[in-house]
Amino acid sequence: MESVFISINMALILRVDIDKPYGNSTIFTKVASKIVEDYFDIPIIGSWNYLYHHIAFLKYCNAENIPGFMYHRQCTAPNAEVTRLTLEGGHKLCFHAENTRNLETFTAELDLFKKTVAPEPVGSFSKHGSGKLKLGKHHYPPYEPEKYREWSVKTNTAYYFGNTIGVSAKALESTDQYFDSVFWVERDYRDPAFSEPEQVLEAASQTDIAILIHPCNYHANKTVAADFKELVRLSKEKAIPWRVF
Ligand SMILES: [Zn+2]
Repeated sequence: MESVFISINMALILRVDIDKPYGNSTIFTKVASKIVEDYFDIPIIGSWNYLYHHIAFLKYCNAENIPGFMYHRQCTAPNAEVTRLTLEGGHKLCFHAENTRNLETFTAELDLFKKTVAPEPVGSFSKHGSGKLKLGKHHYPPYEPEKYREWSVKTNTAYYFGNTIGVSAKALESTDQYFDSVFWVERDYRDPAFSEPEQVLEAASQTDIAILIHPCNYHANKTVAADFKELVRLSKEKAIPWRVF
């Protein structure tokens, strides 16, 4: 039986992983990003083109009133402009973990990130990479979500999103505010059976759905930007909100 009542919980939940210090839209920015990822312990803040791709993404989200969870690596930590735009847009400043070898390495990296963004609080964390490639000097590649859920409790830092590709509306459902699977805006990371923006919006009319995007790809790849804007357009057409918690 169809109900005329609409749940207030259904929404799109935006997860943003800020992976590249200098983006990846040109050969120069690709190389600059790789050098910082592979050889530096700390972000080079305030220098040439730092996080320009994320600044463009934040400005778009802020203009469209779309809040999200913004996950920064230590090498993509927010500078003053990014922090200002993050707070202005009602986004959550969050940590993208790399050195997840054990609880000690994770906690050390988290504590360093907390110091870097203080006095702003760290809202939650997500895991960098999908389990295979080594992506950066401190990156520990294995993807071990059960460990992260334990560490979330031990460090009192929320862990809302896994890295699994959503294969169906059912798989994208959350349990106790944990989304094991997410819908990737980047097409290479979608399941063919669940890849259309219309399917996402249909699912989001029934339950919360997590959407994952990388600002470097939003800036460098016209298809990624167009697909994200299409999700935004459809969400407005169907009156489905974007929400953080
Ligand atoms: Zn990442």
